[in-house]
Amino acid sequence: MEQNTQNKNNQWISWNENVKHSYSNMIKVANEQDLQIAIKENSSIRVFGNRFSSADISAGTQTLVEISAYNKIVSINRNTKEVTVQAGASLENVINVIQACGWCIPCLPDIDKVTIGGALATGTHGTNGYILSKYVSKFRMVLADGSIKEFTNDDLETDAVRVSLGLLGVFSEITFACEDNYILHLKEEPMRDSAWLGQLDDYLATYDFVRILWLPHTDHGYVILGTKVNKDFQFDRKDTPAYIKHRRKTSKFLYQYTHKYPKFTATANKILYKLFFTPKKEHAGSLYDATVTKSRGATMELAEWSVDYSKFKDLFVELKQVLDDKTNKAYVHVPMDIRFLKKDNVWLSNACDTNVVTMGCVCRNSPVADDYEAFDTIEELFLKYGGKPHWAKRFKVQHDGFLKLYPKWKDFKALREKMDPTNKFLNPYLTKIFTK
Ligand SMILES: Cc1cc2nc3c(=O)[nH]c(=O)nc-3n(C[C@H](O)[C@H](O)[C@H](O)COP(=O)(O)OP(=O)(O)OC[C@H]3O[C@@H](n4cnc5c(N)ncnc54)[C@H](O)[C@@H]3O)c2cc1C
Repeated sequence: MEQNTQNKNNQWISWNENVKHSYSNMIKVANEQDLQIAIKENSSIRVFGNRFSSADISAGTQTLVEISAYNKIVSINRNTKEVTVQAGASLENVINVIQACGWCIPCLPDIDKVTIGGALATGTHGTNGYILSKYVSKFRMVLADGSIKEFTNDDLETDAVRVSLGLLGVFSEITFACEDNYILHLKEEPMRDSAWLGQLDDYLATYDFVRILWLPHTDHGYVILGTKVNKDFQFDRKDTPAYIKHRRKTSKFLYQYTHKYPKFTATANKILYKLFFTPKKEHAGSLYDATVTKSRGATMELAEWSVDYSKFKDLFVELKQVLDDKTNKAYVHVPMDIRFLKKDNVWLSNACDTNVVTMGCVCRNSPVADDYEAFDTIEELFLKYGGKPHWAKRFKVQHDGFLKLYPKWKDFKALREKMDPTNKFLNPYLTKIFTK
């Protein structure tokens, strides 16, 4: 176990540099015993993964644990199709191992650089399936007293543990229950909002993969529809022009002054739509190879909200009106990523008890994200429709607000108090949300 207590300028900085905290003690763990000792011997401690979260949930205590070197593949069980990994492993490494076995995790987020522990802790999800942690069959966790406990599908607390922000303990080893890998045949094209919105129910009933990259202020969405096919499926592949790879760089350039001149966002979006979202595409591959973004040109600040599927269309119509209303400054960078999650029973999952639609909101100019009026406007509207924020992303709602949103909120709080009676795992941000 490596300790670093010397440097007076110790500062923890998130990926997009919007969250910063000083600390006095950084512990780098590479095995479970070191993790146990670190947790047992410190009275206030947070563990962080690859620091991608926009919300202030990863640091803010004097002692921090860096877990990314605790990243081995522990075992592969070919009979049960289970893969057990250490929590600091990156999703990228884990998927590569799973794919090499001919298997998959059938619903993946659009980022593979996250750690497994960080992704699970925050309810990270993909499209048209369950949140990632629903594909876990066993969580091995270090509890607040340093002891180990394993949670399987048979334990009552497991659905609390699945999304627990490191508040009930720290994930040590994770076992994924995998499925046979499959090929997705994907068609991508722009559509008017009235067209894709009107066909949404049919898409979800017909296709295995449905994702809309909505382009605010353009009246269009870029619709991605996928069907599972056999390996020998024949089709005419259609690639987009090579310049498409410069989309993020061009967006960053066009949006650089939109905090000063928000209205220019609408013009920038129209340019981006014409350049990057009009070419159609037809391709095929595994879910991972064909749909997950592997690299990003620049940082960004993110918010994401989910809402009951039955309320989405009304919300969308109102959202469009609000964003196109020129009397406010709520202009949004492209795209707003629209995805779909199946109902689960995970206490702090966005899809707890109901099928939901998730909608991302990106600010591509992270240093000035505080001036991005759209974050507040969108939060207000989603809360009006009973929407829930993504735990890892930007939001303002606090304790009382959550009480109304999560049927199991009080149960989670009671379990947290039982499993962490001295509040070892709380930082100031999480204290405001989970104690009152
Ligand atoms: C560009 C980008 C794209 C994204 N795409 C998606 C997406 O498609 N879908 C989606 O749902 N989200 C997405 N996210 C959000 C992302 O999945 C979360 O922010 C995730 O938590 C980041 O993982 P990390 O390893 O960086 O964890 P960190 O941000 O370092 O930590 C996140 C939280 O997990 C806790 N934690 C870390 N390790 C452990 C552990 N071993 N045990 C218990 N708690 C732990 C930390 O204390 C913290 O509270 C995206 C974020 C970015 C920046």
